Amino acid sequence: MIIDCHNDSLTAFRAGREVRGPGSCGHLDLARLRAGRVDLAFFACFVEPASQIVATHRTLALIDTFWQMVEENPTLVFPVMGKQDLKLLGHGRTGCLLSMEGGEGLGGDVGLLRCFFRLGVRAITLTWNNRNLLGDGVGEQGTRSRLTNFGVAVIEQMNELGMVVDLAHLSERCFYHVLECSTAPVLVSHSNARALCDHPRNLSDEQICAVGERGGLVAVTFVSPFLVKGRAAQVHDVVDHIEHIAALIGVDGVAIGSDFDGTDELAAELYDVAQMPRLRRELGKRFSALEVEKIMGGNVLRLLQQVLP
Ligand SMILES: [Zn+2]
Repeated sequence: MIIDCHNDSLTAFRAGREVRGPGSCGHLDLARLRAGRVDLAFFACFVEPASQIVATHRTLALIDTFWQMVEENPTLVFPVMGKQDLKLLGHGRTGCLLSMEGGEGLGGDVGLLRCFFRLGVRAITLTWNNRNLLGDGVGEQGTRSRLTNFGVAVIEQMNELGMVVDLAHLSERCFYHVLECSTAPVLVSHSNARALCDHPRNLSDEQICAVGERGGLVAVTFVSPFLVKGRAAQVHDVVDHIEHIAALIGVDGVAIGSDFDGTDELAAELYDVAQMPRLRRELGKRFSALEVEKIMGGNVLRLLQQVLP
């Protein structure tokens, strides 16, 4: 089982990239997704800061791209919206989970959150790097603000509906506030360990432990500047971060969140989604077969079984 908690490929598909592939453009299309043996992928609707004035419209446009991808390729992929759908994983088609990267599209209205849920959204990264109506991203660290009342209401509603609360990109203060509020285990969909690479997008050991104590997951990302400083990252650097996080919270707390098509700087050998089995092989040098299964997807499967409706 391979589950990837974060890609930004809907943006590229919306801009005209061939969905089915196999192409050589960017990091992901459906043919390469299958070649990479990915069983379930999280497709994020990313709203660029410049489009925030029309964030709801942009989010709906990317949701349309998601559904076109799914409906036009029923032999390759299927949507994952509930526990029932998880039973279809691992039988030759890739499950696709619709997520939102940044809560801008919610427009400050919990009613819109419920509408997005009805459209199939099952995970939300609460912020990108900047402040929004829910709380602060990592770029706003100096403010030391907690979540807004709306941010708290969003988490309560997400817990009630059965949506995955994603803390990647969130400021440290808001991060701990979410852990106070959320009744369900959380996901950090694409962040690494600050102890190994001091980058504002990475998590301190204390943050990693706080996620682990509550049954949550930290999904390690392939973005080179989040892995190492001053050189291009290699696949073994990804495994170093996985090993560090596993040493803190156990193998049960680690997952994978590539950030394919969300960055120009990936770890060298993991240059597109078809290379995913390379990570599995590299993990096999340091972890048992059972542990590798958990890291590559088993842990996310367990979280989704707990959280999804
Ligand atoms: Zn991101």
